[in-house]
Amino acid sequence: MAEKKKNDKTALDRFFENKAAVAVVAVLILAVLFVCAFFVTTAIVKKSGEKPETPSGNSVDQVSQTQTENGASEDIVLPKPADTTTAAEETTTSAPAETTTAAPTADPVASGQTISFPSDTASWHLICLNRNRRVDASAEDSISLSYVAGSEERMDSRAAAAYEKMYDAAASDGIYLTPCSGYRSYSTQKRLYQEFVDEYLAQGYSQQEAENLASTRRNPPGSSEHNIGICMDIICASSSANFQNTSAYAWLQANAADYGFILRYPEDKVDITGVKFEPWHWRYVGVENAAAIKNSGLCLEEYLGVQ
Ligand SMILES: [Zn+2]
Repeated sequence: MAEKKKNDKTALDRFFENKAAVAVVAVLILAVLFVCAFFVTTAIVKKSGEKPETPSGNSVDQVSQTQTENGASEDIVLPKPADTTTAAEETTTSAPAETTTAAPTADPVASGQTISFPSDTASWHLICLNRNRRVDASAEDSISLSYVAGSEERMDSRAAAAYEKMYDAAASDGIYLTPCSGYRSYSTQKRLYQEFVDEYLAQGYSQQEAENLASTRRNPPGSSEHNIGICMDIICASSSANFQNTSAYAWLQANAADYGFILRYPEDKVDITGVKFEPWHWRYVGVENAAAIKNSGLCLEEYLGVQ
């Protein structure tokens, strides 16, 4: 009977009788549990961590801000073939735009006057917008926009036609004046400008102070030529300080006037235009005016006798 009982012991019974074997298995189980706990904890910490870092060590938001701070790369609307009211057009990407250079104490908002969009077809291309001269949102009703052929950028259809001629002429010389940023809606300009106003308000400045300071960094709505589609920023990738060293810039300097375009913000006219040198920003004024402006060495404000 006893013999039978002994034979009835299962392999498990025999295993538990061996204390050393039990101890080894217990240690192994504990080790596995510890390793699992370590990996799970690491995964949770990674998932709840900060924003991914860029190679420079800045967060994504900080990089955008840095690009915006760089005067040569801010303020452009991502080109989208859509209506001016769509959200897509409101998206911005880094690209050139006018950064005004007025002293922070200037009061361009208070002194800015609203001007009418020229209704007669003879002078539509001589409108002068700057920190002192703006159109209101209704000016957009007077503009007929067209896409520049082969691009997603729009201009006043008359300016777009001239740009296409200039583009083709440059292309035949092996120069590609790729449109980077043309028309930008009033509402987009307003939003971009408001971003800076809000930034100063958050720092404790009054509304007026915040607007004045914001105006030194970005054109208020209606004061940018982009708001009436009469200009083009050319070649995004080169739209920075070194654009003036490109063959495209040399070509434009030599030939743009033949197609009615002028360098709107020359290096030696910053005090008058209120905008820093922008070699990529070319403005349509018509062939005759462009020739006269180029030959005289005047900027648009001087040529038109306005401030
Ligand atoms: Zn521009």
